[in-house]
Amino acid sequence: SSTTDFTLSIEGLTVSFDGFKAVDDLNLYIDKNELHVVIGPNGAGKTTVLDLICGKTKSTSGSIKFLNKELTKMSEHAIVRAGVGRKFQTPSIYENLTVLENLEVSYPAGRGVLGSLVFKRSTAVLQKIHEIAAEIMLDDQLDTEAGLLSHGQKQWLEIGMLLIQDPQLLMLDEPVAGMSVKEREQTGELLKKISKGRSVLVIEHDMEFVARIAQKVTVLHQGKILAAGNMEKVQSDPKVIEVYLGH
Ligand code: ADP
Repeated sequence: SSTTDFTLSIEGLTVSFDGFKAVDDLNLYIDKNELHVVIGPNGAGKTTVLDLICGKTKSTSGSIKFLNKELTKMSEHAIVRAGVGRKFQTPSIYENLTVLENLEVSYPAGRGVLGSLVFKRSTAVLQKIHEIAAEIMLDDQLDTEAGLLSHGQKQWLEIGMLLIQDPQLLMLDEPVAGMSVKEREQTGELLKKISKGRSVLVIEHDMEFVARIAQKVTVLHQGKILAAGNMEKVQSDPKVIEVYLGH
């Protein structure tokens, strides 16, 4: 298949910080329905790749094509509107609003707290909220203040706040950090579910979790791809073993 069939096609992506190449001539392709995990040691360039995709960092050269749009020329806001959602490690939920209200203010038409004040709850919006709440396992917590949720539930709520904007690419930075064993399992199932019908790109350190969820793994090292493929292939790659266990 041609590279234009991918949801995300990254080619020759490079960014230099004072001559240091944090990402160096990267090629990365992600399909619809694909759950893709990027791993690699600290400083490998993982966060920088996500920063480049969402427009927070501007590339030195190369291209990022998302649904036939060139993202490298677009602002962060335009990239969000084009359908790219990103979840950071620290959730940006409204602690004093309920779960339902958090989802409601994230709905595109009522985005922002001010918007929600003049935003009329429609049946369609409520239906969507209930649908998402069920997906993120918070359908019995709709009236709970978000600040009272567990650490894991807060992360799920933020995922829900992104899902309600219907992104075609969802990026998550260490989604299970700080979670209990049970929450990790549930998050794994959640990520598998939400990759149906869209693309999901995850940065992760927890290898057990990566093995459980990843369809495709890319190992970054010093801004370049060291290995790529399924977990089995990547795990048995001598270059990967060297980087993780060597020295
Ligand atoms: P990872 O997420 O894999 O740990 P990062 O993408 O955070 O790696 O960083 C890759 C390298 O780029 C590191 O050496 C980091 O210090 C450097 N780097 C990242 N962002 C900047 C920046 N804005 N200015 C200078 N150096 C940066």
